[in-house]
Amino acid sequence: MPPFLSLQQEYSTCQRCPSLCKSRTQVVFGSGNQQAEVIFIGEAPGAEEDAQGIPFCGASGKVLQELLASINLTRDDVFITNTILCRPENNRNPAKDEVENCRERLDILIEIMKPKVIVTIGNFATERILGKKGITQLRGKVFPLTIYNQEVKIIPVVHPANLLYNGRNPVIFQQMKDDFQVIKSVIEKKK
Ligand code: URA
Repeated sequence: MPPFLSLQQEYSTCQRCPSLCKSRTQVVFGSGNQQAEVIFIGEAPGAEEDAQGIPFCGASGKVLQELLASINLTRDDVFITNTILCRPENNRNPAKDEVENCRERLDILIEIMKPKVIVTIGNFATERILGKKGITQLRGKVFPLTIYNQEVKIIPVVHPANLLYNGRNPVIFQQMKDDFQVIKSVIEKKK
């Protein structure tokens, strides 16, 4: 079996987090192009994602799709996953041990896919990948990181939920679009 499918199958019945295996309907492994050079990593599945088994298919996903469209990409051009694969009850934040329990899975996924660019969406994904806190300062910057003996460009962006929380504030939306232009220029330089 190809390594990607074998990883997906292994985690489809994951029991590492006692609370998450109770709260989830299903494990939301990821969606998009398995050969993509760009991986987007969010926080955790929400209610809609848990029901459909697809990351970012709810309100935040609609914003993500708009942002991707602003740089002429669709969700099928990239791969989208989350810091943790299962929905926490009442959409609470992922706990530290849950992020740790999902660490190996994300590391192996990155090793298998060998992306050139990783976009971390929001604080949780950014801290998980970069070990740095503070999305407001980190957003839209490019951090080169050596993973699997190759340089990967890490680009943190603000989480779409933040835009929705702020009533789609046009200033925030423009900043987010500007950060996506950074993603575009990094992808184009890579080609
Ligand atoms: N928010 C996330 O961080 N991930 C999803 O999949 C959906 C909403």
